[in-house]
Amino acid sequence: MEKFSWQSDHGYRILIDHLQDGIVVVEEGVLVYVNQRMASMIGYSTAELIGRPFIQFIAPGDAPLMQERYLARLAGEPVPDQYDIHLVTAQGSLIFCTLNIGTCQDPNGKTVTIGSARDVTRQKAALAELEASKEELKKIFDRLPDVFYRTNMQGIITMISPSCFDILGYRQEVMQGTPMASYYVTPDDRQKAVQAITDGGGRATQVEAGLRHKDGSTVWISTNAIVRYGADGQPLFIEGVARDISEQKRLQDQLTLLSRTDDLTGEFSRSYFMNKSEEVIKIMKRYQRPATMMMLDLDHFKNINDNFGHHAGDIALIAFTRACRQEIRDSDVLGRLGGEEFGLMLPETTLENAQQLAERIRKATADIRIPQDGQTITITVSIGVVELSADDQSLTSILRRADRAMYQAKQNGRNQVVTLIEPV
Ligand code: GH3
Ligand code: MG
Ligand code: MG
Repeated sequence: MEKFSWQSDHGYRILIDHLQDGIVVVEEGVLVYVNQRMASMIGYSTAELIGRPFIQFIAPGDAPLMQERYLARLAGEPVPDQYDIHLVTAQGSLIFCTLNIGTCQDPNGKTVTIGSARDVTRQKAALAELEASKEELKKIFDRLPDVFYRTNMQGIITMISPSCFDILGYRQEVMQGTPMASYYVTPDDRQKAVQAITDGGGRATQVEAGLRHKDGSTVWISTNAIVRYGADGQPLFIEGVARDISEQKRLQDQLTLLSRTDDLTGEFSRSYFMNKSEEVIKIMKRYQRPATMMMLDLDHFKNINDNFGHHAGDIALIAFTRACRQEIRDSDVLGRLGGEEFGLMLPETTLENAQQLAERIRKATADIRIPQDGQTITITVSIGVVELSADDQSLTSILRRADRAMYQAKQNGRNQVVTLIEPV
């Protein structure tokens, strides 16, 4: 091991050679001293560098500025002591350095420039990489079709992605700093959503809610959200991704509606008629209001199909429901129970009124004229009418009585209304 007294000149040189930074001393533009680190940084020996102009080792892009500052410094003008430059190595590659420059006078009165150079190529590359990935993340964030958001624990939006504009019509900057609850159609729903997250141990998936678009329309969203906690375990903020499911909701509603209605006539299907009628019966009984049930069956309908074909039968079925619609109220519940048989539940309707209505429907049906192949199709209907009684526990009993009344109408010769007064 080399021996030295570190307080001697030789000792200082060794200390300087061990520095992590490169050191240069420049006199009249020429290198008069370089430490070991400087030489190895740019791939030369110290001997190869001494006596060479320092400017030779500065990247061409940085050389003019470097030269300008060197001259300005010699002239005593104020120039920055620290700046970034690229040095050129013996292999021709560039290294990125932070340069620290100072000047002093030598014993002969000449100005000597001392520089220390720190290789920051790696840090610079890491920084550039970080910047690039930040850029990339921002791009993803900005282009996200779903809305990414953060709220603090008070429910104030602290971050939101730009797609909020596409979904809610409000710009990012407008929404930031406002309460999330203010965008809910029912602000309490926001509280419910937060509750769902708390109940889920800080996580909730596919929580659906209606938000109010700037134009006043309702936007349905499905949110996946989590609570983010600090190192001390305290909740910091809620973070979530909300997806616009309005279209999905609309299709779902359409599907539900489709299963509610009969394809041919557009009237309620048997199952939906049953549900609706049950509801009506419950309410009418609770408030002791009158209600009646009608059973309607087209007469000798088989003959229509046989004589004019199935399609003509379909047209007749549609014409019949249209005729019924003309006579009934929106609150009345009409349903196709099957084939050419219909049920009609009439809330707030006395037996007498129902009987009159049935008679109007019977007549309107008999008046239907459907031209077909130069002939005219006519139809008739048999109707049974019964009243909801205190004894009716369910829909079944009233439907059974209505069916019996209708059967009676058939027995009596069809195209007529039969009203059963006494519940049996
Ligand atoms: P009744 O007076 O005793 O009720 O005689 P009907 O011929 O109407 O009675 P039935 O129940 O014997 O026949 C019902 C007919 O209704 C049989 C079937 O071909 C026809 N039908 C049922 N559903 C449809 C339908 O969706 N379209 C058409 N075109 N016909 C139907
Ligand atoms: Mg029939
Ligand atoms: Mg029938």
